[in-house]
Amino acid sequence: MPERLCLQCNESEDAIRESQRRRDPIYCGAVDYFGEVEWDLPLHRFRDRSDRELASLHILPEHFKEYRRLLSPWEINDAHRDAEWAGDKTRASGDA
Ligand SMILES: [Zn+2]
Repeated sequence: MPERLCLQCNESEDAIRESQRRRDPIYCGAVDYFGEVEWDLPLHRFRDRSDRELASLHILPEHFKEYRRLLSPWEINDAHRDAEWAGDKTRASGDA
């Protein structure tokens, strides 16, 4: 059985488990050339996004397959978002 890798940081599940056992957990993230954190996430992820999760990110269904391994909602091309998101982004949430 192939080793499972985190879809976000590419670390192996075994290495992550072992680091957690040592109480020195590997965090899910990436650092740039200078050691600055480029992005980090609260949890590692080993499965692709469900249709429901992708829909909640305002991705149009015809583009779901391109975003299974999405790291951040900001990776979504505006043309692939549904009208509500692609429209007025400044609209306050909770408007009736
Ligand atoms: Zn990870």
